[in-house]
Amino acid sequence: MPSSVEFPAPARTPATGPVPWIAMYHSVGDRADDPYRVTVTPDRLDGQLRWLRRRGLRGVSVAELLAARARGEGRDLVGLTFDDGYADFLGNALPVLARWECTATLFVLPGRLGGDNAWDPLGPRKPLLTADGVRRAAAAGVEIGSHGLTHVDLTRADDTVLTAETTGSRAALEELTGAPVAGFCYPYGTVDRRAVEAVRGAGYGYACAIDPGELNGPYALPRVHIGQNDTAVRLFLKRRLHRLRRRPVEGLR
Ligand SMILES: [Zn+2]
Repeated sequence: MPSSVEFPAPARTPATGPVPWIAMYHSVGDRADDPYRVTVTPDRLDGQLRWLRRRGLRGVSVAELLAARARGEGRDLVGLTFDDGYADFLGNALPVLARWECTATLFVLPGRLGGDNAWDPLGPRKPLLTADGVRRAAAAGVEIGSHGLTHVDLTRADDTVLTAETTGSRAALEELTGAPVAGFCYPYGTVDRRAVEAVRGAGYGYACAIDPGELNGPYALPRVHIGQNDTAVRLFLKRRLHRLRRRPVEGLR
């Protein structure tokens, strides 16, 4: 129930201020068949955003979060990200975000628009947004970022594929939305120095990972998975782990 749903507060480090806290979601909808645990129900998302509001926090896109931090502001902001660009974002996530006056970043795959999550070997096929759907999300104020072209592990990609997935996907999305694309998100969260350099070289301003370890920085921002089963206790433990594992992100306050 929503009353048992909690978000961890942003971790605090005395020297540099809070590490930016970025939540990672995927699909929002029915959870009847969800072997990868990537789906939360709209009601649960609603409860999580209500929890943020009650604590004086607000969910925003990563670009907005980083811009606020660069100005020395935004201590009350939490980044909200949705990976893969599932079609259910428009009908299930967007109304809930609007209810709580939140924005978000949607990381889409321009090589799979209108397709499905074919990269998952098992489990239900979930439809992905079409080009028109991505434009509708952008028109509603959602930041559109790249998740690569086709959901490839960049640490296993050859040079040609790496360029296509980073430079190529950015060009495709800028063509599609008619706006600059600042954000990238590593498929599977897998990242190495070569992938970081490719993303930086492609002209992105930041990139999201999951648990980037020593690569932690503006091009490998850590995120915390938020799922349907996240109760107050589980999220408290996540906050502790987040604080212990992550060093302050250089260049961000
Ligand atoms: Zn993904």
